[in-house]
Amino acid sequence: MLFSELVEFYEKIEAISGRIEMTNLLVELLRKTPPEIIDKVVYLTLGEVYPPFVGLELGVADRLALRAVKLASGASEKEVDQAYKQLGDVGLAGERMLAKRSQATLFVQELTVEDVYSALERIARETGEGSMETKVQILSGLLASAQPREAKYILRIVTGKMRLGVADMTILDALSILYGGGKETRELFERAYNITSDIGFVAKTAALEGVEGLKKIRITVGRPIRPMLAERLSSAEEILQKLGGKCLAEYKYDGERQQIHKRADEVVIFSRRLENITSQYPDVVELVRKHVKADEAILECECVAIDPDTGDMLPFQELMHRKRKHDVHKAVEQYPVRLHFFDLLYHNGRDLTLEPIEERRRALESIIEETDRVKLSRAIFTSDPRELEKFFHEAIENGCEGLVVKAVGEEAIYRAGARGWLWIKLKRSYKSEMMDTVDLVVVGAFHGRGKRGGTYGALLMAAYNKEKDVFQSVCKVGSGFTDEDLQKLPEMLEPYKIPHKHARVESGMEADIWFEPRLVLEIIGDEITISPIHRAGWGAVKEGFGLAIRFPRFTGRYRLDKAPEDATTTDEILEMYRRQLKKIAEAA
Ligand code: ATP
Repeated sequence: MLFSELVEFYEKIEAISGRIEMTNLLVELLRKTPPEIIDKVVYLTLGEVYPPFVGLELGVADRLALRAVKLASGASEKEVDQAYKQLGDVGLAGERMLAKRSQATLFVQELTVEDVYSALERIARETGEGSMETKVQILSGLLASAQPREAKYILRIVTGKMRLGVADMTILDALSILYGGGKETRELFERAYNITSDIGFVAKTAALEGVEGLKKIRITVGRPIRPMLAERLSSAEEILQKLGGKCLAEYKYDGERQQIHKRADEVVIFSRRLENITSQYPDVVELVRKHVKADEAILECECVAIDPDTGDMLPFQELMHRKRKHDVHKAVEQYPVRLHFFDLLYHNGRDLTLEPIEERRRALESIIEETDRVKLSRAIFTSDPRELEKFFHEAIENGCEGLVVKAVGEEAIYRAGARGWLWIKLKRSYKSEMMDTVDLVVVGAFHGRGKRGGTYGALLMAAYNKEKDVFQSVCKVGSGFTDEDLQKLPEMLEPYKIPHKHARVESGMEADIWFEPRLVLEIIGDEITISPIHRAGWGAVKEGFGLAIRFPRFTGRYRLDKAPEDATTTDEILEMYRRQLKKIAEAA
C-alpha cells in the first residue's frame, strides 16, 4: 500500500468536523488496507508505532525534526526556522521546505506504508547515548524520499503531533462496522480490545481471522487489561439497595492504581492509563517477586505512599516523587510505598475475569503473603447499611478516600474497560452541594486580562460522552489556580494547541484558544445547573439545554494518570444532576 494513499485519507479526515463522518472515512480506509498491514495503518493513524503500553516512543523534538528537514531539503537553517515560526507546525514547515527542493528527488520510488513504518520503528528503537543523531539521520533519509504532503504527516507522527482526532474507540467502531456486521458482535470487539489494550492487534486479528479469531483472543501476561471502573452514589443505603442488599465493601485507598503482571521473576507494572511504569517502582518489583506466590499472575493493587516512621498512609501527591526520571533509588528510600491488593485477573493459565468476585478474592488471598508492605485491601461482606456506614467512617479515619463497594454473586465478574454498577464508590462528601469532584478535560482557553495578562484567564472544560465518543463542554473554570498553576498551564497545554475547535469537541462557547482534548484536571463546583451554552447532557433534561457546573474551581489536582477518555462522563454528570434534584425534593 502506498503511503500517499494514507495521506489522502489523513487530509480528508482533517477537513471534516464530525465524529460520524470520521468513522465512515476510517471504514473506507480500513477496507482498502491489506490485512497484513492493517495494524501498522492503525498505529500510524493514531500517531504511534506501537500500542502505548509497550513504552517505546518516537520522542523526536521539533528542533531535531527541523534538522532532518534541513538535511533532506537542502534548505538553509534560516529558511527552515522561518517557515516553522510562520506556520507554527513542524509538518507544514517540512511540507513547504520539501516542495522547494531540487528536481532530482522526484525520480525516487514512491514510499509504501511499510517503508514509512519500518523507518519510524527504527527511530523509536534508537535509545541511549548518541541516539538523537541516529534518529535525525533516519528521519532525513525518509524525508528525502517523501513527497511534501507525505513529509507533513511523517513529521507530525515523529514529533507526537498527529492530532487527527482519531482515538482507539473510533477505530474500534470502524472495525466492528467493517468486520462485525451487526450489533451482536460489537461486544466481541470490545472484549478483545479490553483484554489486550492493543487496537492494532485487534484490527489485524479481525481482518485476518474475522469474528472467530476475536473469540480466540486470550488474556496474556505482559499485555495490560483495561481497568474496571466504579460508579458513584452518596449513601450506604442507596448503594446496598442498588447492589441487591449485599456487598463486598473495601477501603478505597488514595494512591496510584497499578496492574501488576508477573511471570516467574519478571514483573511489569502498568499505570491506570496502562503505561509501563515499572522503572519508577523497583521496590514494588521486589515485593511482588517475594510475596506473590504464583508463577504467572495479573493482579491489581493500589500503591500508597506511607510515612516510613509510622506506617501511616500519605496523600496521593507524595507519589509524584516517583515520576522523576533520575534518582528513583533516592525516591524509593525517601518515599516508601505499601501495596493493597484488591483483585486477581489471571492466575497460572486461568482467566479469572469472568469469575465472580468471591472466587477472585479467594484466589487472591491464596497467593498473597502479607507483610507490612504488602496487604490485601481491607474488606467486609455485609448486608447491613449501618455496618457499611461504620466501615466507611473507619476507612476515612484510616486515611482512605472512602469505600469501593462491590456487587457479589454470579454476575459480579471483572468487567474490563467498563464503568458500571458492579463497583460503586462512596466518597467523603464535600462541604458544597456538589457531592463529589469531577475530572474534566481542557478543550479550550480564554486569554487572561490584568493580573492574568499573558497567561490564561479561564479554561473551557469538557466531560466525556462515551456513547458518541466526543467531549462536551460543561463549564468555564477560572478559580482555584495558584500563580504557579497559571505559569505552568500555558506550557503544559502548548503541545495540544490547535487552530480550530477539535473534531471531537462540542461546545456552544467560543474559546480564544482550542486544544486537543488531553489534559485532565480535577474540578469541584457548587451545583449542577441547566445551561443553554454547554453541551454535556444536551437535551437530556430539557430540549435545547445542556448541563453546566456552577462556580467551578480547580482543586489543584492534575489528573495526569487519566486519559481524556477516563474523564467524568456526561452520563455521570447527568446522574449527579438527578441526584441533586432528588435531594432538594427530599429536603422540601
Ligand atoms: P477517583 O477519581 O474517584 O479516584 P477514578 O476515576 O480514578 O476515581 P474510579 O473507577 O472512579 O476511578 O474509582 C475506582 C478507583 O479507586 C480505582 O481506579 C482505584 O485506583 C481506586 N481504588 C482504591 N481502592 C480500591 C479498591 N479496594 N478496589 C478498587 N479500586 C480501588
